Amino acid sequence: MKPGNTILGEYGTTVFTVMSALAVEHQAINLGQGFPDSDGPADILAVAAQATNDGPNQYPPLMGVPELRQAVATHNKRFYDMDVDWQSQVMVTSGATESIAAAILGLINPGDEAVLIEPLYDSYLPILRQAGGVPKLVRVEPPNWELPLDELAAAFSKKTKLIMLNSPMNPSAKVFSEEELTFIARLVEKYDAYAVCDEVYEHIVYDVRPHIPLMTLPGMAERCIRIGSAGKTFSMTGWKVGYSTGAPDLIAAAAKAHQFLTFTTPPNLQKAVAYGLGKDDDYFLSLGVDLQAKRDRLVAGLDKVGFDVIDSQGTYFVTVDFRPLGFNGDDVKFSKHLTVDAGVAAVPFSAFYQGGAANGIDHFVRFCYCKQDSLLDAAIDKLGSHFGGV
Ligand code: PMP
Ligand code: GLN
Repeated sequence: MKPGNTILGEYGTTVFTVMSALAVEHQAINLGQGFPDSDGPADILAVAAQATNDGPNQYPPLMGVPELRQAVATHNKRFYDMDVDWQSQVMVTSGATESIAAAILGLINPGDEAVLIEPLYDSYLPILRQAGGVPKLVRVEPPNWELPLDELAAAFSKKTKLIMLNSPMNPSAKVFSEEELTFIARLVEKYDAYAVCDEVYEHIVYDVRPHIPLMTLPGMAERCIRIGSAGKTFSMTGWKVGYSTGAPDLIAAAAKAHQFLTFTTPPNLQKAVAYGLGKDDDYFLSLGVDLQAKRDRLVAGLDKVGFDVIDSQGTYFVTVDFRPLGFNGDDVKFSKHLTVDAGVAAVPFSAFYQGGAANGIDHFVRFCYCKQDSLLDAAIDKLGSHFGGV
């Protein structure tokens, strides 16, 4: 039998699926894969139900229903004072995952270089490689996630087509500062490159830190595709509604890929997300406030158990160093031990770096805290009775 695609064939099942399956098998509390354990706002669900019943349920336009494209443009103005033409600068996709793939496939020619910052969200590299792109990897590392400016500059060349930027960043929970973004913007301009900005956690930023889209920096409006996700903003990860905003030429390029990937996205969900983006400021504010309280709750517990907890500035993830617990083994072994013996699933952090646990990244795991308080407390109880401390 002839083998399937060799690049994709190199990749196993994603670590999120693997850890969720292990959690189910051992009836562990799943703080691994990132998904809320309660659904998003009832009014948005009601709009989706109504739109389903009212129809039409046929193919919506390739670029997305006008209501949602207008809502995305208005959202950009409202939160970031960006002037966006909804007809030429917004594209709706089936999840941010598809927006990312469409941007990469739409921009990359074989041999083009792309700068990626590890730890990496899982889909970036396989899609880039499949498009024929040549990855230039730069690392930020726990506990400080400091951006190595010289290495970043050295990763750019005249062959650089784009940089992938994820801020707030999954899994590190790093929020890039204005200085870092300015440095990146200068490189993008200097090398006549683009930036694909994965900003799915744009409303999940803590401690009064601002989220700054790279696209709002001088010279960047022409060079960025900025990506959002209803899954994160409305806590409905199963909906898979994403949206890209960018200069008309960039959106047109990404649309060439989108039309062959999914062509479109369910119309009822698009209409409900359009409604959701119009919710009042309180909604968007309380998303971060509620999750910050959950972060603090889990962090306090993890701290008591004895982990070294790394600052979580945004997203709904927190990374811990488990060495103080005295476990003998790497992060993959520890995650398994956590799930099977302590009853709490997490994600081994080395999964987010190429080469896995090389360079000493072998003693960190990521926990997810977008969960009911009672579940977070139950997780801490389990960890406490297993490791002590609580
Ligand atoms: N980018 C990052 C950094 C994510 O964490 C996620 C969520 N899994 C996605 C993209 C994908 O978002 P969606 O579910 O909308 O495809
Ligand atoms: N974004 C989620 C996480 O980081 C999972 C996405 C997925 O399972 N593909 O956990």
